[in-house]
Amino acid sequence: MSNILQTQKINKSYVSPVETLTVFRDLDFNLEKGKSLFLFGPSGCGKSTFLNMITGLDEPDSGKVLINNKNLNISNSSNFLKSDIGIIFQDHYLLNELNIKDNLMIKSEEEEQLDFLLNFLDIKDIKLKFPYQISNGQKQRVCVARSLMNKPQLIIADEPTSYLDKVNSDKVIDLLVNYTKQFNTSLVVSSHDISYKNLFDFSYTIKDKKLIKC
Ligand code: ADP
Ligand code: MG
Repeated sequence: MSNILQTQKINKSYVSPVETLTVFRDLDFNLEKGKSLFLFGPSGCGKSTFLNMITGLDEPDSGKVLINNKNLNISNSSNFLKSDIGIIFQDHYLLNELNIKDNLMIKSEEEEQLDFLLNFLDIKDIKLKFPYQISNGQKQRVCVARSLMNKPQLIIADEPTSYLDKVNSDKVIDLLVNYTKQFNTSLVVSSHDISYKNLFDFSYTIKDKKLIKC
């Protein structure tokens, strides 16, 4: 089976005048196509650092990230983001000058898909509102909808339920996991809430500057 995601000997530290904080050392990791990964760990353990590197939002100090066997780096990451990867960011990055519908239609003009997602996530009544008029929980669900608009091969979600109540959290995880199964795509979700672990093919946590199975 081929890999959708691969990291090879990744090193990542944050350097400040006071200290050097090493988050990953010689990290090798593979995710096969069509599989889902749950990345669990407490706040500050390195989940976002890992996800930012595999989306091209940040670069490792050394080592490689491969998506679909192609090298990902900051200069080509926007090509991947347009087509192959759907990302749910912790900061939502919605465009303030566009309403919710237009924010979503940037990714695809399929109105049927748009209405399905807005209905399922219970945000259809904010379709014509602007990002500054909606709550963080609503923004998070818009971000989930946006990630699925163009039917990506790989979805990467950084704590996609952090602003949501239990009912909406369950819906979001259900949607992402079912999409992955239905279209045989791949999924990476980080969370500090372990309760969703069993819905995924694999679960990992971050320990000793590596990803380990948990
Ligand atoms: P998580 O997403 O699991 O909460 P992060 O990946 O955001 O964890 O952070 C991992 C560690 O790296 C934390 O100790 C955090 O303080 C530190 N860190 C994250 N981003 C930066 C940065 N830009 N500069 C310095 N330290 C950072
Ligand atoms: Mg984080």
